[in-house]
Amino acid sequence: ALEVQRIRKSFGKGAASKEVLAGLSFSVADGEFVTIIGPSGSGKTTLFQVIGGLEPPSEGEVWLGGKATTGERGHISYMPQQASLLPWETVAGNIALSLVISGLDRKEAKAKTKVWLERIGLQEYANAYPHVLSGGMQQRVSFLRALLAPQPLMLLDEPFGALDALTRLQMQQWLMSIWEENRRSVLLVTHSIEEALFLSDRIVVLSASPAVVLEEFIVPFERPRDEAIWYDPRFNELKQRIYRLL
Ligand code: ATP
Repeated sequence: ALEVQRIRKSFGKGAASKEVLAGLSFSVADGEFVTIIGPSGSGKTTLFQVIGGLEPPSEGEVWLGGKATTGERGHISYMPQQASLLPWETVAGNIALSLVISGLDRKEAKAKTKVWLERIGLQEYANAYPHVLSGGMQQRVSFLRALLAPQPLMLLDEPFGALDALTRLQMQQWLMSIWEENRRSVLLVTHSIEEALFLSDRIVVLSASPAVVLEEFIVPFERPRDEAIWYDPRFNELKQRIYRLL
């Protein structure tokens, strides 16, 4: 589980100091999918950097798996907006490496890689290098690498922002089905309320900078989910309540 406790973060000193995070607290339970939504420039990237230990907070603590990890790196797996794959490894190599890092021996990793390649529909690309894949295909591998990593929390920073609308929709459905089979704690940042409602268990809404938590919403739809939730009256009702806060 992740616990973010009263995090403050300011940049600069004295009169030029600028507060970006103004005392944020929230949590992500084990196996829970939580989305952060906030206005542009509200400090979401800064928040991720603090959680990932890339920026020390000015005040407050980050706890992961019951340990204080404030300012420490290496406790989270990360999926950025632009897929980041190792260009010198094949697609199979990229996946196998994640499995080896998470503790499998080479033989097991090879066998598992084959299963995963089929599961993400890229078995034909096993021996291809990442640059020949489309953006959506690279994102599938990138997501899988983050999912297979041993860290207790996965951060997804606008993972589909760079994709066209149709690919984005397919990726959301695909991500959800894979995640439902392998529940991990996930923290997602997105600008799309629909995406947040489709994917997550809970939505944390941030204010404009300096950021505080304005409100949290439990997403009431049962899993497994499909497009049917778009026609559920609660979908639009929640969408409007969140929209009004932003
Ligand atoms: P977006 O949704 O547009 O990606 P965001 O919510 O991720 O934005 P941040 O990138 O965290 O927001 O930025 C929040 C504020 O913090 C901005 O006003 C930015 O200028 C400021 N900021 C971020 N990093 C630094 C830094 N290293 N030094 C000074 N100010 C910074």
